[in-house]
Amino acid sequence: MTHDKGFATRAIHLGYNPLDHEGALTPPLHLTSTFAFETAQAGGEIFAGERAGHVYSRISNPTLDLLERRMAALEGAEAGLALASGMGAVSSVLWTLLSPGDEVIVDKTLYGCTFSFMHHGLRKFGITITHVDMTDPANLAAAMTDRTRVVYFETPANPNMRLVDIAAVSEVAHAGGAQVIVDNTYATPYLTRPIALGADLVVHSATKYLGGHGDLVAGIVVGRAEQVSEIRLVGMKDMTGAVMAPFNAMLVLRGLKTLALRMERHCASAQVVADWLDAHPDVSKVHYPGLKSFGQHALACRQMAQPGAMIAFELTGGLDAGRRMMNNLRMIARAVSLGDAETLIQHPASMTHSTYTAEERATHGISDGLIRLSVGLEDVSDILDDLDTALAPEHAARIA
Ligand SMILES: *Cc1c(COP(=O)(O)O)cnc(C)c1O
Repeated sequence: MTHDKGFATRAIHLGYNPLDHEGALTPPLHLTSTFAFETAQAGGEIFAGERAGHVYSRISNPTLDLLERRMAALEGAEAGLALASGMGAVSSVLWTLLSPGDEVIVDKTLYGCTFSFMHHGLRKFGITITHVDMTDPANLAAAMTDRTRVVYFETPANPNMRLVDIAAVSEVAHAGGAQVIVDNTYATPYLTRPIALGADLVVHSATKYLGGHGDLVAGIVVGRAEQVSEIRLVGMKDMTGAVMAPFNAMLVLRGLKTLALRMERHCASAQVVADWLDAHPDVSKVHYPGLKSFGQHALACRQMAQPGAMIAFELTGGLDAGRRMMNNLRMIARAVSLGDAETLIQHPASMTHSTYTAEERATHGISDGLIRLSVGLEDVSDILDDLDTALAPEHAARIA
């Protein structure tokens, strides 16, 4: 009934009618590991997939089921799967799709633990990982082989904000017989919907904007029903066991209710902060899709409803200046993760992306001076004040 409604309405109402649940406005939290069968035969039929029903919470659970249906609807996909973490989502998908001898082509830049999973996880099991700069889809066309099963990327990429043209890359990947997986953590379905642009599967760290309050770790996968079912029954149930806890599903459902509202505020503040940083004399480079100076600004306008709220920047004084500035902050938290109400700042080379060696960081476009800022929901004047005060000693020293 709510499938044709707007984004915010679906995020609040889809798949739940309080009158079916004793009038409870909030969906019930099904804290149960297992489910009783009406008869022995009914249990057998549910196991065989001949009858709808739940068996055991490592396979499915009604609270997770509601979240899965809402996320699928928001992403414009047939089905969804809730997992224990973003890495649980990434690993469950890839263990399901790949066999020894297969090749995965990934973009040049990946989130640190995804990079590590590819290089130190999949590679150990005879899977080839090839990096390609997907900002030019022609690079992918040239790299595709008859062993390429999966093309995988983030857009915007964590941490350096490179964008990938989902439609163009999907066309090249499909022509070569590969499936496309997009990590949509940075954009969320409020800003970008990769399935409509040609992607086969979308993965999320729901720890970030979807949960939105920094109080949980969770992951989501959406895609075609048959494929999501295979990921559930093979990758998640038997290989990783990375199932989401029902309580976390309830918290993500609560987060989704304000996703549209939060993203509006996140994006509006991030544009102000990016413009301010861009004009600051001690800032040498700002990577933000909403800046006209951003190399892929045209693609951002085409592919993203708004430029998001993640900013990467570098100071003229390099890493030392960046560390001093971070230590001078009073409100903005020095912390990894992103997409929370609190503004967070971190240094990828020594934190989220320290899974890369220094050489790998250089090859993959993650400079040592890069600072990553997740613009939160505080008053933007207070965010600017904190940054201004933290940068001021630098500025004074430079002028002196
Ligand atoms: C955080 C993150 C992940 C991993 O998610 P977890 O929930 O921490 O396991 C994957 N991809 C991106 C882009 C991320 O930012």
